[in-house]
Amino acid sequence: MTIIDISMPITIDMPVYKNRDEKRPSIELVRDFTSGSVYESRLSIELHTGTHIDAPLHMIEGGEDITVYPIARSVSPCRVLDLTNIEDGITKEDLVNKEIVAGEFVLLKTRNSWHDEFNPDFIYLEESGAKYLVEKGIIGAGIDSLGIERSQADHGTHKSLLGNGIMILEGLRLKHVQEGIYMLIAAPLNIPGVEASPVRAFLMDRGTFNL
Ligand SMILES: [Zn+2]
Repeated sequence: MTIIDISMPITIDMPVYKNRDEKRPSIELVRDFTSGSVYESRLSIELHTGTHIDAPLHMIEGGEDITVYPIARSVSPCRVLDLTNIEDGITKEDLVNKEIVAGEFVLLKTRNSWHDEFNPDFIYLEESGAKYLVEKGIIGAGIDSLGIERSQADHGTHKSLLGNGIMILEGLRLKHVQEGIYMLIAAPLNIPGVEASPVRAFLMDRGTFNL
């Protein structure tokens, strides 16, 4: 059985959106063996830092929080698309020749996976690409950038996906992943009322699941 980790490590100097300091996590030592008999830490992290899932509430006023996703949605048939030839936004035209099957979670592998630092010109999914994925009946869309869209004042990409029940998974690391089909496992923390959650995301052979 092969397990491929596609998550970002959470560290103080990890890449964060637009390099904003307030988006950096902090890991604080609460007590250790010099002050007691246990070692305990506190993590403070913005919910969109690192590998995470967005819920509708992130972009839609009155939208559902992260608990809208039942635990069963944490395990999905998945297809990784190699889009490393694209230099800007991923459009419908870039996707029409790809095999995309209804009911799959689609992961967009781009040249973002080659950047270990935040790149302000990151590759993103254009609204035409998002609408095409909605038409195809996918269940989720993931990308190897900290945002699935860039410079869209109306957040058309997020709204097209989230407004149609499509889960968004951001902050993936896909450099070491080949185009193909897998099972995706990515479970948000159960935090009622919030709009996103960090996840540990990984891929497994679909054959392991007899699907
Ligand atoms: Zn997000």
